[in-house]
Amino acid sequence: MSFVTSATDVADLPATEAEVAVVGRSNVGKSSLINALANRKNLAHTSKTPGRTQLINLFALDNKSQTPTHAFVDLPGYGFANVPAKVQAAWQPMIEAYLTDRESLAMIMVLVDGAVGPTKLDVQMLEWLRSLALPHTVVATKHDKVKAAKRDARKKELAEGCRLETGDIVWTSASKAVGIEKLRDLTRLWLDLDS
Ligand code: GDP
Repeated sequence: MSFVTSATDVADLPATEAEVAVVGRSNVGKSSLINALANRKNLAHTSKTPGRTQLINLFALDNKSQTPTHAFVDLPGYGFANVPAKVQAAWQPMIEAYLTDRESLAMIMVLVDGAVGPTKLDVQMLEWLRSLALPHTVVATKHDKVKAAKRDARKKELAEGCRLETGDIVWTSASKAVGIEKLRDLTRLWLDLDS
């Protein structure tokens, strides 16, 4: 995976044949997961500086990095604690425009913090995606932060919070490489790429 471009407007992104997008609230572990998927240390920047993450970042899955056919799209994290409501409000139309207008969008990964469970904003995002019948998969992050003895209960709870079955959710840990290979395989499947 390699970085291609950043944009604030979906119209400025290069056309692709198929792509997978990732959304999630800030601090959910989105950058860490993208880095783990790419097997790179600092491809996606962790969100210490909210400014950096207000852009739509497009990565190529193939090596034709300037004209990618298959891409991975990192959308700005929602719900930053220290960002003024006005700035926050500007992000929503940008994310919504991308999600509703992007023709090559094959799958949206909705990241939910596995240790915390779905927040109100996560549930709102899921409801909105359902209302538009946009293809999405819930990916739970930070699997390693949930104690082994509590995992089954947590998985059930998290699925209920998302109004899904436990088997619908992909559990991952960027730090312990849990579920990363599975998510890579799913990505190739969603993008209709041979493995
Ligand atoms: P982003 O804001 O969604 O891009 O989140 P980051 O990737 O910057 O991660 C937010 C925080 O969660 C950081 O302190 C990470 O070290 C931590 N984190 C991310 N993934 C994991 C994980 O799989 N396990 C644990 N224990 N911590 C994680």
